[in-house]
Amino acid sequence: MNKIICDKEDCKAEIPQTKDLIETKYLSGGIQINFFRCKKCNAKYLVSVTDKVTREKQIELRKWSEQHNKALGINIKGMSEEELKKLTILADETKYNMDRLQEEIKVSIAKLKAKYEGEL
Ligand SMILES: [Zn+2]
Repeated sequence: MNKIICDKEDCKAEIPQTKDLIETKYLSGGIQINFFRCKKCNAKYLVSVTDKVTREKQIELRKWSEQHNKALGINIKGMSEEELKKLTILADETKYNMDRLQEEIKVSIAKLKAKYEGEL
């Protein structure tokens, strides 16, 4: 399990970073700020900031990722050359889309973090 140490003076409590402990603050315009809270001193630690477009991309990424894993999991034994070729293209295409979306999501989250971290 990941954890961070609270950096507030006289606190230094361990803050476990599990998904179920992430809290979300909702701003107008569909902005969501995800953060952890120190149970001891209540300090907040930013995890990520998303807008509607970014969250849609995250869903799209999950779909491509599932398709990619499915393609990789297919048993190629007894496949014709033609089928193998198609499968390779599918695996490449899904990987390409995953990488593209991952990069786009990374960039937009970084921009949103810079813009909204003061709102936490
Ligand atoms: Zn603390």
